[in-house]
Amino acid sequence: MLTDQPSTATYTTDWTGKYRGDALAVVRPAAAEEVAQIVTLCAQQGIAIVPQSGNTGICGGSVPIDSRPSIILSLSRMNRVRAIDRDARTATVDAGVVLEALQNAVEEHDLIFPLMFGARGSAMIGGNLSTNAGGSNVVRYGNTRDLCLGIEAVLADGSILNGLTGLRKDNTGYDLKNLLIGAEGTLGIITGAVVKLYPQPKVRATAFLSVASLSAALEILNIVQDRLGNTVEAFEYVPQPVVEVILRHFPQIRAPLSEPANVGILLEVASSRTDDAAEASDGGKALQEGLIMALADLMESGLVLDAMFATSEGQRNDLWKLRESVLESINADGPAYHLDVALPLSRVADFVRIMDEKATELGFRPLTIGHLGDGNLHYALAAADPAKWDGLPLEAMKEFAFDLLAELKGSFSAEHGIGQSKAELLRARKEPSQLAMMRAIKQALDPQNIMNPGKMLV
Ligand code: FAD
Repeated sequence: MLTDQPSTATYTTDWTGKYRGDALAVVRPAAAEEVAQIVTLCAQQGIAIVPQSGNTGICGGSVPIDSRPSIILSLSRMNRVRAIDRDARTATVDAGVVLEALQNAVEEHDLIFPLMFGARGSAMIGGNLSTNAGGSNVVRYGNTRDLCLGIEAVLADGSILNGLTGLRKDNTGYDLKNLLIGAEGTLGIITGAVVKLYPQPKVRATAFLSVASLSAALEILNIVQDRLGNTVEAFEYVPQPVVEVILRHFPQIRAPLSEPANVGILLEVASSRTDDAAEASDGGKALQEGLIMALADLMESGLVLDAMFATSEGQRNDLWKLRESVLESINADGPAYHLDVALPLSRVADFVRIMDEKATELGFRPLTIGHLGDGNLHYALAAADPAKWDGLPLEAMKEFAFDLLAELKGSFSAEHGIGQSKAELLRARKEPSQLAMMRAIKQALDPQNIMNPGKMLV
């Protein structure tokens, strides 16, 4: 248990540096039973509990609010991969296992855990489940929710919910696991999970494309999926204004194309099929040749304007370094408001066009990237002139964006969650019947409101 300020400081401030809250103590249990004892004690004393895994969340969910006496319950000591079942393709893990550590552990068994995003070196499975994290491989493998078969959790009364099952079918009542996934610690503390594993790809092909338009990009996604048998693992939107910001802050990163790509796409396909990994006529692998041929046809049809095909692991890493440096680069570039939105795929281009027009008119500089294959955009509103940030009509711009999202049947939180930053927004904009059901569930499972209060539901 940590109580002195210097040792609790890294836990009481979130990754963005924007949210901080005092904690009576940071407790670091080593097992679910210890978590249960701590929760029982807190329930008796009316002390709030803020579960914290890797503290990489960007909505202020993992730190206390100051109006409630709170402890932070860190999962960092619960970091054991309990079992890997190679035949069933599952892993049973403690909630505090770092995502990248799980990925390294299963790699030895020729398997992958396909959740992929920039913070994987620090984020932990419990945090990934609690935020239902997405990332760049969702287009093929789904969100964290889709990767989880079973959950063990401690509820607000100190009881342990034992749902550590590897079953792929189980219709014996309510899906309790899915209540806790994405609940951001407001319904209980996830202490363990059974997750799905997939075969290690035998071959990958990665390219950076300049494409004719956002609508063309979605057409390209479907064509590549059809031609290469559903192998697309990532389809990431990285347009030129964002590339410029990255190059400004990470000069060691190279521009992927010699001519700027107004609509830039990082495309990766992968396959574990032996046929796809077989040598092709040009010395590459069949899947790689297949992608090159598909891109050549797409260039001929005018959908793709230019393409850089990664011919080495080093070039592939450079492309991913570019993609994963986006958030840090935008943060380093000056103040910005970050939207994390989801849209039906057919409305993505409309959203970007209408938003860009309005944002520019009001003095903002839109910096948009996205997991385009999932219709998920990270739309940052920076200032055209950073010195004038304070005078910009940010509230009016946000309202415009949320009205537009509602009109286009989108979501105002795609993958980062609600936390503190979007709690008021949820209250104002979530469909009332759904909000009422969420409140009823919270009241039933946590009547004292000790589980991460002030987050999500306010
Ligand atoms: P934390 O930040 O510790 O916690 C997040 C929330 O979950 C908090 O509300 C916390 O109270 C709750 N919580 C944590 N552990 C538990 C538990 N065991 N039981 C119950 N509740 C718990 N997210 C994406 O989805 N996609 C991305 O592409 C992506 N890219 C990112 C890139 C960078 C550089 C950074 C910094 C973040 C990114 N994120 C992304 C956001 C973040 O990494 C994810 O939300 C991640 O899943 C959080 O995991 P964590 O272990 O850090 O959780």
